[in-house]
Formats: sequence, C-alpha cells, structure tokens
Amino acid sequence: MKDEMQEILDDAQDAGWVMEPGAKAILEAFGLPVTRHVFARDEAQAVEGAASLGYPVVAKVVSPKVVHKSDAGGVVVGIRDEDGLRAAFERLGDIEAFEGVLIDEMAAGVEMFVGSKQDPQFGTVVLAGIGGTSVEVYEDVAIRAAPMTREQALVALAALKGRALLEGFRGAEPVDREALAALISRFSEAAFELRETVDSIDLNPVLAGAGGALIADARMMLHGPGEGL
Ligand code: ADP
Ligand code: MG
Repeated sequence: MKDEMQEILDDAQDAGWVMEPGAKAILEAFGLPVTRHVFARDEAQAVEGAASLGYPVVAKVVSPKVVHKSDAGGVVVGIRDEDGLRAAFERLGDIEAFEGVLIDEMAAGVEMFVGSKQDPQFGTVVLAGIGGTSVEVYEDVAIRAAPMTREQALVALAALKGRALLEGFRGAEPVDREALAALISRFSEAAFELRETVDSIDLNPVLAGAGGALIADARMMLHGPGEGL
C-alpha cells in the first residue's frame, strides 16, 4: 500500500491536489473509516457500482478542475434507483475536465468538519468543528497540534460551543464520541506523517452518528514546488 499511496501522490503533482477517490484511498490505507464507494469512468460502471453498493447513493464529479464539487453542480445526493443514477451521470459528465464519478453510499449523522494544515509556529495542526453554520458563522473550531491522542481529541470535542449537537440534541441519539475521537486522533497521525508532501487536508463532512463516524468527503492540497518542509 505504501507504493500505491506514493503513486496517488505522484499522480496528483500536476493538479496540485488529491481528488476524493485518491484522498479516500490514502485515508483508508491509514486505517481511517470512509464511506463505501466506487469510482466509475462510464455510465455502465456507474450503474454496476451503485448496484453493488445498494441504493440510495450519492454521485459526485471527479475532475482536477473542480475542488468544490457542489459549487460546480457536481454532487447529486439521494439517488434512489438506476434511472436517477443515469440522469445524474449525464449531468455530471458535462462538467469541465470530467474524469468520472465517485458513487458513494448515503451516510447519515451530524456533519463534522475535520482538517489539517501546517502552522509556522505549531507545525502540523488539526482542526475540528461541527459543520455548517457552526464553523462558518460562529468560528467554533478546536485547533490542536498533531499528532494527538484519542483522549486529547475527546477533550477538544468537549470544548466546542456546539457540543450539545453531539450529545443527543432534541431527542436525537448521542453521537459515538469515542469513535469520532478515535477518527480524529488517527487522522492527526496521518496528517503528521504526510506533512512533507501534503500541505492541508479537508474532511468535510465527517458524518458522526450513534453507530460511529465516517469520512464522506476528503481532499488533500499538496505543497507547491520547492515548498515542502
Ligand atoms: P464538496 O465539498 O466538494 O462540495 P461533498 O462531497 O462534501 O462535496 O458533497 C457535498 C455535500 O453533499 C456534503 O456536504 C454532504 O452534505 C452531502 N454528501 C456528500 N457525500 C455524502 C454521503 N456519502 N452521504 C450523505 N451525504 C453526503
Ligand atoms: Mg465537502
């Protein structure tokens, strides 16, 4: 797998970033839980892949020109059957520099943001917050140096203003915080190990539920030429 990881990183040099299929493969190699997915280059592969995952599924564009997929109309969620999948494939196929689609199982849970970046003072740092308005409007994000332990991750989660959302808000089942903390800790080790090649990583969303946490989207931005640590 070490070779496969290096190959994915080498292939991403031209674009400057690792798209979702490659990013998920690297994260899986680090033992991180990602949504079940299939990469499909053509419509027949997409149909076959969706059938193997089981509906409902999500279809997402894979293109080196599209960093923010939903902004480009590149994400279709809640596809319920083959007709829906074919229609989504045709739409996504028109997007610039289309390479294929990632078919993803539909996951549920509280949308978390987990990321990493290089800080001039603290080195590799990990950021975690509850997705959506909580991060964007209230800037409710915990930042810690990587690598961090599961216990440190639990403490960081407990420091979030929006922590009630993880504790079974309005009758929802509480999120498995141990599983989420284990994910964040393992992620911090991965980000730290990759730091010479990978400048920053975005996992957005990580879907956290009562039964565990799954990475539903991932991208990795590489250091520019001569910019590595
Ligand atoms: P991007 O961030 O590039 O726009 P995402 O892969 O994050 O694309 O998809 C956009 C949104 O679609 C996510 O924030 C999430 O709400 C939803 N989504 C994506 N993948 C899944 C999935 N596997 N299960 C459920 N919802 C998903
Ligand atoms: Mg995303």
